[in-house]
Amino acid sequence: MSNPPTSAGNVVPLRRPAARGVDVAGAPAPTQDAADAPEAEEDGKRTSQDREQQRRLAWMRECTVIAASYAQNGVFIGLFALTGTVSWAAGALYAMPGLLASAVVAYLIKSGWSARLKDASMSSVHSLCSGLLCLVGVALFPQMAFAYALMLFTVFITATYRNPRRQVQTTLVAVSLLFAGLTLGLGRRLQIPHGSGAEQFLTWLFFVATLGRCVMLSVINVQNNRLLRDRGQKMAETLVKIERLANHDELTGVLNRRRLLQILAEEMAHTDRSGAPVSVALFDLDHFKTVNDTLGHLSGDLVLKQFAAAVQAQARTTDRFGRYGGEEFLLILTGADVAQADQAVERARQALAQVDWSSVAPGLRITFSAGVATYREKESAELLLGRADLGLYSAKHAGRNCTRAA
Ligand code: GH3
Ligand code: MG
Ligand code: MG
Repeated sequence: MSNPPTSAGNVVPLRRPAARGVDVAGAPAPTQDAADAPEAEEDGKRTSQDREQQRRLAWMRECTVIAASYAQNGVFIGLFALTGTVSWAAGALYAMPGLLASAVVAYLIKSGWSARLKDASMSSVHSLCSGLLCLVGVALFPQMAFAYALMLFTVFITATYRNPRRQVQTTLVAVSLLFAGLTLGLGRRLQIPHGSGAEQFLTWLFFVATLGRCVMLSVINVQNNRLLRDRGQKMAETLVKIERLANHDELTGVLNRRRLLQILAEEMAHTDRSGAPVSVALFDLDHFKTVNDTLGHLSGDLVLKQFAAAVQAQARTTDRFGRYGGEEFLLILTGADVAQADQAVERARQALAQVDWSSVAPGLRITFSAGVATYREKESAELLLGRADLGLYSAKHAGRNCTRAA
């Protein structure tokens, strides 16, 4: 019986962006990283060891289930011995090697030896062993060959769980040929015991039990597939969320500094190739400390959210807007020269003027200052953003609520 593979994903806690500055690398302090790395590595090792352990336990449980089915079949064959269809040896000859093989496989899995095999669950060994026992049964006890033939159904359904398709197909061909050899070649006849009422009853019982087992195995298979599909879907959703978290600012929902810097690097490379201009506008809210001091940090957060939403809503689809850090935002304007960038910033200023801040505080007015800069060929992102920061500095000096180019 197969357990669907477990999945474990560690969501690395994301850091808030730095509060200020034009540190293009945007990397956390190296000492922090150095301290985190061995811990994360240790965690990763532990998780994979746990997963390996869980997998081994599941395979060992499978060995128990398979051993139980050998025992069950052995008992059935024993019942046929009661009716005189076969000798007692038939039951033992089937169950003993099966139980022994299950125990050996379980031991090899438990000891970790099977890990060196391609098929670490040794499911192909299970299939081979049970298949061979059925064929031996047909060869030695043709008077109840139907029972051994029926057992092959459960063997093959179980085999399809984990063994590769090609391997199952090859086994199927081999078993069919061996069957043909036994029946056509050696003249063994596939017989169904039906001489007495007891035999007929046992035959019926064995047929029903095998049919029930096949149905159960199929149901489990379907359930496992459904579980796998659901997990796959959840994993895909989680991946989307992780990607969103990795690229977006938690508070405002706009792009974060990391993603902005990636986009800027891409746009600069594109400009180097195509010659089309690209500009940046660095926004900084005016007197934002006063908002925090007078209305509280939560209201400050609300202002940041509404500001980001207002600017984002009016930005062109080709422009990329995000939180650069603290109450600083960056707009990357694809295909815009400095004059067009300046116009875009003024559009943002007008949009901001329309915002109703009464939900934060009655009579509140929020403005921003901005610095714009257009990329110069082969200039580094650090220099470009440094120039935008200079423009921002000039705008603050010029009395705020205005834009300056640098
Ligand atoms: P200026 O006009 O010169 O920009 O003045 P200012 O008061 O806006 O000064 P500055 O830009 O240096 O202020 C940054 C403030 O932004 C300080 C910090 O407490 C606040 N801030 C940074 N990040 C957050 C945040 O996530 N939430 C809130 N509420 N405040 C933040
Ligand atoms: Mg600031
Ligand atoms: Mg400010």
